[in-house]
Amino acid sequence: MFLLFFLFPLLAVAQTDSLSVSIHNLRTWTAGTTITAEAVTAFGGVDSCFVAMPIPDDVWQRMQGKTYKPNPHIARSDLHYLRLLHTDYDHQIHLGEMVCNRRIADVVLDIFRQLFDAGYPIQQILLPDVYDADDERQMRANNTSCFCYRNVSGSKKLSAHARGLAIDLNSLYNPYYINRKNGTRYVQPSTARQYCDRTRQFRYKIDTHDLAYRLFTRHGFTWGGSWRSCKDFQHFELTE
Ligand SMILES: [Zn+2]
Repeated sequence: MFLLFFLFPLLAVAQTDSLSVSIHNLRTWTAGTTITAEAVTAFGGVDSCFVAMPIPDDVWQRMQGKTYKPNPHIARSDLHYLRLLHTDYDHQIHLGEMVCNRRIADVVLDIFRQLFDAGYPIQQILLPDVYDADDERQMRANNTSCFCYRNVSGSKKLSAHARGLAIDLNSLYNPYYINRKNGTRYVQPSTARQYCDRTRQFRYKIDTHDLAYRLFTRHGFTWGGSWRSCKDFQHFELTE
């Protein structure tokens, strides 16, 4: 009893601390951090945590020479920055951030809001700039992201990611692969070979019964898992 009497104020202090840390992370929108439900309420509720805005100056600085390179196809004003929440298998609330084409910002927010409300597991939603826009590195980290000014892997064609019109979801467990003519298979990320076998059961797996698949396709996105010449299970794209 004495011990409880002694510990209770300490536990209360620890709770207050985690609340204040969470609120600080929400105010600064520190993507990748875990926050409490109490902090979300104090911040104005879940609606306040799903917002789209023009690219803030600090985000724009972070993107330079990484996801954004000077080009004739897409300008800063064509893009929006999204703040969003997601959950994972830990059932905790995590802060995410994404850059996408301004035209699809509301749709993307709506999809990720529905995924959040349903408790759909997403490991992290960070800007690829965290990985110096290195696609292999962000995929190995199972990152979820949208905009990156780059070509389609192994080609000179501009990727839909370069226009902010494609999203890669839980990218380690939903890899890209193509079977070469010489019988070998090229896999991205290279650490995801085991997840190319879609008859197996594993976490984060996207298939046609998956909620993300249903939400994206309902909004007109095509899924790379349906492609014939190659498979890109992480990839949802809105074709213009
Ligand atoms: Zn993709």
